[in-house]
Amino acid sequence: MELLFLEPIFKERIWGGSRLKTDYGYHIPSNTTGESWVISAHNHGETCIRNGKLAGMKLSEVWNTYPELFANTVKRQFPLMVKIIDASHNLSVQVHPDDQFAQMMENDSGKHECWYILNASADSRIVYGHNAKNSQELKTMVNNQEWNKLLRAVAVKKGDFFPVPTGTIHAIGADTLILEVQQSSDVTYRIYDYDRRDDNGNLRELHQDKALAVIKSPHYDKRGQFERLRVNADSSFVVFDSNEYFKVGKLVVNGDLPELKLSVPYLLVSVVDGAGTINGYTVKKGDNFIVPNQIRRLKISGYLTLITTSEN
Ligand code: ZN
Repeated sequence: MELLFLEPIFKERIWGGSRLKTDYGYHIPSNTTGESWVISAHNHGETCIRNGKLAGMKLSEVWNTYPELFANTVKRQFPLMVKIIDASHNLSVQVHPDDQFAQMMENDSGKHECWYILNASADSRIVYGHNAKNSQELKTMVNNQEWNKLLRAVAVKKGDFFPVPTGTIHAIGADTLILEVQQSSDVTYRIYDYDRRDDNGNLRELHQDKALAVIKSPHYDKRGQFERLRVNADSSFVVFDSNEYFKVGKLVVNGDLPELKLSVPYLLVSVVDGAGTINGYTVKKGDNFIVPNQIRRLKISGYLTLITTSEN
């Protein structure tokens, strides 16, 4: 049984840049490429298998045709998505709904997401939560456009991690490279876009009514202490976020790891730094793959950092 490597797809964005090429070696379509969907079965952008017998198949087709690779899950759709985001400029201030709201209003899933900061400059900031005490105060501050008073700005650096549950107001700031793990969903409600205009002089659409309906007040900061597990003297595993949808961790490998036994039905892996081998495959920064249910052991060696995601 093979590891399933995925071919990334790209999305051009007004706030994008060229670091998906310069930092990750991806063949991007332009120097305003904002997003690379590296593991996705969403119909707005699907990744395909790059290697082995299933090469060329869309991930959704693999999910539907070979359910045994995912432990015969009863879920209708592949539930997870991983992206690498290059924010050369600020992203809009936004919020995502939960499953119930998204299914009712958009026929899509809700979007709990989380961010691992791959790179940032000394001035990089994100918007993470707000300062309103309740929903009435939130509405008043949005209507009065009191953005500086309302939005919480947080400095970020490489290696930071932020859970972004549904209903959390947020925005990735300029000069930030992020790995995002999320529910498979493409529903975003923009609440403020810095009054930017596109090439045709138009403001981007805002969705303030829906945003106000889903933003939670007051903001609850879910950041916490992460438990670090020592794998051996030089290697460690940290669980960053374990929510009702998925569990995300970081495995730092320095040298030869003892064989790891998997207890999850299947595992998504993104190599975010370094190079090495996994079960005999050569892997390097920028590679993304799925470990199917038939592979229960991983033999890893090299000097590399992996972000791992499993269903919860
Ligand atoms: Zn978001």
